[in-house]
Amino acid sequence: MPYKDPEKHRAKSRERGSRPEVKARRKERSQLPEVKARKKELRDRPEVKARRKERSQLPEVKAGKRKYGKEYRERPEVKAGMKKYGKEHEQKPEVKARRKELRDRPEVKARRKARSQLPEVKSKREEYVKKHNQLPEVKSRKRKYGKNYVKKHRLELNKKTSERNLKVKHEVLSHYSKKLSNSDVPCCNCCGEHEFLIFLSIDHITNRKNVTHKKGDAGQTLYRYLRRNGYPSGHQVLCFNCNSAKSDSGICPHKRSGG
Ligand SMILES: [Zn+2]
Ligand SMILES: [Zn+2]
Repeated sequence: MPYKDPEKHRAKSRERGSRPEVKARRKERSQLPEVKARKKELRDRPEVKARRKERSQLPEVKAGKRKYGKEYRERPEVKAGMKKYGKEHEQKPEVKARRKELRDRPEVKARRKARSQLPEVKSKREEYVKKHNQLPEVKSRKRKYGKNYVKKHRLELNKKTSERNLKVKHEVLSHYSKKLSNSDVPCCNCCGEHEFLIFLSIDHITNRKNVTHKKGDAGQTLYRYLRRNGYPSGHQVLCFNCNSAKSDSGICPHKRSGG
């Protein structure tokens, strides 16, 4: 039977629902396992999930989330907790990897780049650099390691650079040798040469046309590209001999039957 005055009825039921004893009863009921399970079931329905997702993309909802997140992070107890556990958590390899994966997504990269070009971000950055350069320790470091320092210590610095480069080469070649030759040391994927790192380099297994890195990337640029991009497949380690034989006649004599 329809109510005579639906508005009055609604107001009455609202009033009833806000009474403390009714509230408490409702809360108690919501904790019952069967009620909880039904709620979960409802929450997990695809159409409900989709609706929730859609809602979460609305600008006003997003802004609200951002605001809440900021306020939450600024609470003293939260701040203290983050300081204590945040560092440990952030150093975990899986957390690091997830962060890197996120950071490297094209859309995230594009967003970051666009943001860095905003006038207010630019001016803030410039301001920071200016301030940073005025710090006494930065000033004294500049005095110490200025142009003259580089001139005077060129040999030593060059040595450091080539040591760093060698380390990168070793790291990258080790990775591909482990994967393709099951070797713990960098070695040629054809003849197994491993005595001198200088004889070894990266070879494009099929050809250079269908690789993802820039044309002309070689040596350190290529090693660093591969390392940065999680060691994409399509590359192998070859020694100088096997490499030049392969590029001369398409196949190394080692691989031909009868030698
Ligand atoms: Zn070889
Ligand atoms: Zn060979």
